[in-house]
Amino acid sequence: MAKVILQNVYKIYPGNVMAVRDANLEIEDQEFVVLVGPSGCGKSTTLRMVAGLEEISRGQIYIDGRKVNDVPPKDRDIAMVFQNYALYPHMSVYKNMAFGLKLRKFPKAEIDQRVREAADILGIRELLERKPKELSGGQRQRVAVGRAIVRKPKAFLFDEPLSNLDAKMRVQMRTEISKLHTRLGATMLYVTHDQVEAMTMGDRIVVMKDGIIQQVATPLELYDQPANQFVAGFIGSPPMNFFNGSVVQQNGATWFKEGTFDLCLDERAAAKVAGYVGQQVVFGVRPEDIQDARRATDHDPGHRIRATIEVVEPMGAEIFVYLNTGRNTFIARLGAHDEAAVDQQIELVINLQKAHFFDAGSGEVLV
Ligand code: ADP
Repeated sequence: MAKVILQNVYKIYPGNVMAVRDANLEIEDQEFVVLVGPSGCGKSTTLRMVAGLEEISRGQIYIDGRKVNDVPPKDRDIAMVFQNYALYPHMSVYKNMAFGLKLRKFPKAEIDQRVREAADILGIRELLERKPKELSGGQRQRVAVGRAIVRKPKAFLFDEPLSNLDAKMRVQMRTEISKLHTRLGATMLYVTHDQVEAMTMGDRIVVMKDGIIQQVATPLELYDQPANQFVAGFIGSPPMNFFNGSVVQQNGATWFKEGTFDLCLDERAAAKVAGYVGQQVVFGVRPEDIQDARRATDHDPGHRIRATIEVVEPMGAEIFVYLNTGRNTFIARLGAHDEAAVDQQIELVINLQKAHFFDAGSGEVLV
C-alpha cells in the first residue's frame, strides 16, 4: 500500500474552466480519506487525476514515491470503483473479477485464488457464476469492489460508489467498505457529496468548494473547529445556524447584537471578536447547542433568545424545532419531551462555549 501526494495540482478544462485550483494533499499509507463537497466542486476531477483518467494541468501527483503525472492509468497500480459499477454485462461475476488479472497475464491458479479470496471477503462466493443483470444493486457494487480487491493495488479510488443504491443498502455498504478498509489495511480515496458518508467513513475529510480545498481534518475537527462558514454549514445535519449581527462594547462587556436579541459574550467568545468591535460578524451555533430555557441551568439573561416556533419535527429520540427570531430563522434540537407547539413563543439558551464567529465578508472563522 502507498502514500498518495498531490502538490499544487490544477485542472483547467478547455474554456478556462478551473475545476481544481492549487490542491495540496498528503494521503498517508493505509489512510481512508474522503473528498466531499457540493456537486461541481471538483471532487471527481481530483480523483480522476490521481487515477490518470484526467490529465493534470499543473502540479505533481506522487503514488508511493513515484511521480505519476505522465504514467498511464494501467501502470499506476491503483484500482477505481465507479458509481455505475462498470461491469461487463456478458461476463459472469467470476470473469468480471478475473478480467483485469487475465489482461495482466497472471497465472490461472493465482487468478482463481485471488477471485475466491475476494469473493469470500465480500460474501459473494455463491454469485460467481451469475451475470450482472441477475444481481441486485448492492451485489453489483460488491462485484465492482471485488474486481478492485483482486488486483491488490497500491491504493483504492472510489467515485460516489453508493449513489445508485437505496438508503438502506447505502448504510450497509458504508460499513462494509469501512470494514474492508480495516481488513485490507489499504490506502483509500473516496469521493462523495454526502457529508454523512464522509463523516462516518473518513479518517480524514477534505472539504472542497469551487475547485478549492477548504479544509482537511478529522471528522470531529471539522465539526468542532470548521475553518470557515462554508465548512461549518456543510458538515452537520441539521446544519449550523447563522445569525448576522454586530459586535458592541457596552457596560464593560462585549455583546453580539442581532437586532432582536443581544448575547453577552463570555471571555472566550469576546476574545474571538475582539478585533471586530463596531463591525458586522456572523455568529454560528449548532442546533444541539441551543436548549429550552425551562430546562437550563444557565440563568444568565445575556445568553437567551426569544423566538417563535414555526415547525416541530418529532424524530423519536429528539425534536427538531424550526424557529424565527423575527429577523432570522434557525433550528434547535430539543429533547423528545420538551414542550413545543407551533406559534408558541419560547425562550432558549445558547451554549456560548460552543459559539462560532465568522468574518462577515470572507467567511473565515474568527479564533
Ligand atoms: P464534482 O465531482 O465535485 O461534482 P467535477 O470534478 O465533476 O465536480 O467537476 C468540476 C467542474 O469541472 C465543474 O464545474 C464541471 O462542470 C467541470 N468539468 C468537469 N468535467 C469537465 C470537462 N470534461 N470539460 C469541461 N468542464 C468540466
